[in-house]
Amino acid sequence: MRFFVPTDIYIENDCVKNHTQDFQAIGKRALIMTGRHSAAANGSLDDVTGALDAEHIPFQIFNEVEENPSTDTVRKAAQAARDFEADFVIGIGGGSAIDAAKAAALLLSNPSVDADDLHKAPNRPLSHAPVVAVPTTCGTGSEATPVAIITNHKIHLKKSIPHRIFPALALVDGKYLASAKKALVVNTAVDALSHMVESILNVKSNAFNRMFPEYGLRLWGECKSALLSDKDIDANLYEKLMLTSTIAGMSIAHTSTTLPHGMSYDLTLNAGVPHGPAVGYFLAAYTEVCAKFVPGDVEKILSLLGLKNIDDFTAMLQNLIGTYAVTREMRDKFAAAMKVNRSKLDLAPGPISPEDVDFIYEKSLNIKP
Ligand code: NAP
Ligand code: FE
Repeated sequence: MRFFVPTDIYIENDCVKNHTQDFQAIGKRALIMTGRHSAAANGSLDDVTGALDAEHIPFQIFNEVEENPSTDTVRKAAQAARDFEADFVIGIGGGSAIDAAKAAALLLSNPSVDADDLHKAPNRPLSHAPVVAVPTTCGTGSEATPVAIITNHKIHLKKSIPHRIFPALALVDGKYLASAKKALVVNTAVDALSHMVESILNVKSNAFNRMFPEYGLRLWGECKSALLSDKDIDANLYEKLMLTSTIAGMSIAHTSTTLPHGMSYDLTLNAGVPHGPAVGYFLAAYTEVCAKFVPGDVEKILSLLGLKNIDDFTAMLQNLIGTYAVTREMRDKFAAAMKVNRSKLDLAPGPISPEDVDFIYEKSLNIKP
């Protein structure tokens, strides 16, 4: 058994302001990567630029990261970093900005690698410039994982790149959620839930790495009624939701994700479904299939969430994210690709048959009339 999360993680109110000196240890010139609007609107960008000013660290802002970031965007950001002679990269935002920052940091240190080759397995591990992560959604946990999910539109592929890029520093502050719409909080919390469930229902799950999802699922269960209610999220819960998301990231840092994540990428790429719901649609049916192999683990997950059975789990997810319909042709195409996706199938806690894959798709996606 092994435990390895080398990221220095602070989770507290005002943590960017409280730890400006930690930026000094990371580098001398920074490229800050954000999406178009949210980081400027929720105060996270001001906090980071204030911290860099306080430490006399010059920075440049690249605010063009789109949802599900593309190889073209990370190529452009890496060039901006090179032109500015940055020696580290700060990702502020949801998983998209943080994943893009990781990929740009890798390209910055490896000018001979083109962004369109990021998904190719390297002959040897490549080094990368240090990354600082400041999350503003409560879902991906990218601040605590070595994973970057990047989309290459030229080959119609959304997938994690094979390079392991743990941020050097993560500054996690729940207050950035205050500007988020309820749907964004719910969608990203469903992603965090999926990370923990997929980490337990996983061949790599062991006594050591289980500490994270088992504790995190209990926290998620405590947020459940607020997520399900019609009211806005109470500010008291922001920190707990962020903590849960980071713990969920630490969970998959050890095990990786399994079928629901593998299945989600086609849905996002072909139908534009946001990441959290795209994963969440498949979660209950995957859990049902895994009950054949690890019934005790499924019981444990349900009890930590305060649910009686899989039907309750299905109903809860439908209340949170609704249901989704695709054409029969699309569903058959997605299922055919998943039946040969060994990188995800081999992580399930038992042998997933082609019939199991069909069952998950049939149970999870409706067919458009
Ligand atoms: P996201 O794609 O980063 O952001 C979604 C939207 O939310 C964007 O429009 C963004 O606006 C906005 N937003 C972000 N923070 C906000 C805030 N505090 N208030 C208001 N709006 C805010 O969403 P995400 O779900 O966090 O990340 C999804 C990506 O992460 C996917 O590509 C997924 O595959 C990947 N992922 C990575 C990992 C990992 O371990 N690395 C794990 C799971 C998923 P702006 O564009 O203006 O910023
Ligand atoms: Fe995810």
